[in-house]
Amino acid sequence: MNREVKHRMGRSVGVPPKWTSVLAVIAHPDDASFGLGAILDAFVFTGAKVEVLCLTHGQAWTLEGAPGDLAALRGAELASAVDVLGPAGSEMADCPDGALSEAGQARLVEEVIAAADSCFPDGLLVFDTVAVEGHLDHVTATSAGLMAAETLALPVLGWALSEDVAARLNLEFGNRFTSHQNQDIDLRVTVERARQRVASHSLQDEALPGGARWRRLELLANTQSLRWLRTAGGAVGDRAPGTAQRR
Ligand SMILES: [Zn+2]
Repeated sequence: MNREVKHRMGRSVGVPPKWTSVLAVIAHPDDASFGLGAILDAFVFTGAKVEVLCLTHGQAWTLEGAPGDLAALRGAELASAVDVLGPAGSEMADCPDGALSEAGQARLVEEVIAAADSCFPDGLLVFDTVAVEGHLDHVTATSAGLMAAETLALPVLGWALSEDVAARLNLEFGNRFTSHQNQDIDLRVTVERARQRVASHSLQDEALPGGARWRRLELLANTQSLRWLRTAGGAVGDRAPGTAQRR
């Protein structure tokens, strides 16, 4: 992205863009809490109306020892996370968890466009185009968000990890995290992680002290790195999705 465009779109400003309505597109229920939680919270704080579209019911993921129907449990988990974080609402599509791409890109894009048609977002919020935590579903969801944004001519912000945090996590937990160099981070938004921690509380052990997710929130502290994946006017050439590999 050239310097002029970056300047116009804002860089390292400490606050999220001035959007009145935001649509977050995620693959799994817990992506709304452990992942986007703090930035959703920051948008809500600015007065933005936030909607979350979760493309699966998260049924492939095991909640250790949890009784009952997993898809229903994870639906409840998303609803309670959304409750804590304060977005206006959430909806879940019934695409295959763990194999999201099998739903077909056309259907995924349709789901995003349908959600956008009901909340009129100023922009989309997604996971980064590289697999932040080595899960191909995240890349697929982001790809669908970007395709839909092209149809809708909307900007897209990607939730990213900075290199210092990823390097530290990879050192402590093995090579699971993909990051960007500091110059590729467009926005560093100041966030408050208390509600994100509460929203993540019911999740697996990794969200508890000593776990990778807990540690990540600790290292990220009150800063959330974001990248512009698409401008309102057109795709950002060097950030096309689909290049990440399952790791
Ligand atoms: Zn996920």
